[in-house]
Amino acid sequence: MIDLHSHTNESDGTCSPAELVDAAVRAGVDVLGITDHDTFRGFDQAAPLARQAGIEPVCGIELSTKLQGQSVHLLGYFLGDNGLADFRHWVLELQASRRERNVRLAARLRELGFDITLEEAEARGRGMTGRPHFAQLMVEKGYVADLREAFDEYLDESAKGYVQRIEPQFAEGVAHIRQAGGIASLAHPVRVKGDVPALLPELCDAGMNAIEAYHSDHARRDTECYLGLAERYGLLVTGGSDFHGAVKPGVLLGTGYAGNLRIPGDLIDRLKQRAQ
Ligand code: AMP
Ligand code: FE
Ligand code: FE
Ligand code: ZN
Repeated sequence: MIDLHSHTNESDGTCSPAELVDAAVRAGVDVLGITDHDTFRGFDQAAPLARQAGIEPVCGIELSTKLQGQSVHLLGYFLGDNGLADFRHWVLELQASRRERNVRLAARLRELGFDITLEEAEARGRGMTGRPHFAQLMVEKGYVADLREAFDEYLDESAKGYVQRIEPQFAEGVAHIRQAGGIASLAHPVRVKGDVPALLPELCDAGMNAIEAYHSDHARRDTECYLGLAERYGLLVTGGSDFHGAVKPGVLLGTGYAGNLRIPGDLIDRLKQRAQ
């Protein structure tokens, strides 16, 4: 079984890289893509452990990008040796812009009357501290009932505590991935606001060469729609559960929500062929 979309606690998942590998073994996943948000730290630690456990690790990353004003997630896979040093350097720059945003986010939350500090958030999120870690603190301190309320009322793009972060444009993210020899896949297209089929020509013009047709948030007809688009535009197909551990308790590695995810095993062969 393959799963090309998972997170460790180096971004917003709850499993350490070692725990993620253990979970993959238990789930029967033998090809595991690790796609932490804006960092390779989870992959770097998990990869040797995965190999020891007989699992093939796939190097991935999930970038937050801007597309027509909205935040769109972009997956990068098989970031080969050519240009990988440059790509990793660019990712470190993205992390610096996130840290700068976090300083302003902590100040904004204090302005709104919450006793929350940057240090507390960073104690949880470490190198990849983000809004989910601020949300956890708000729940623990009793300011909101749950993560949903933290986002809806304060942290979502449309909410009163939101502060802007400089994110790369979608096309810029695609260009960096392709220059590094990687495959650039539109993550969970069902979450993109607006008409995805209508947007696709622009995304393909930017060099995007894959789409995540299989995802635990996709209903069967969503997957069929994205498979149709892949066919029409000559895109590769990727798929994964988007496993985050305890923060998304219903989502299981390899199989998604209650087995709603069935990723064809041969999809990996086509990706590898193209990545070579
Ligand atoms: P950041 O990169 O720090 O801006 O945080 C982005 C992360 O916050 C996303 O990857 C999601 O995990 C989470 N997130 C963003 N918006 C929402 C939302 N409306 N509800 C729940 N989680 C969200
Ligand atoms: Fe996430
Ligand atoms: Fe995502
Ligand atoms: Zn993800």
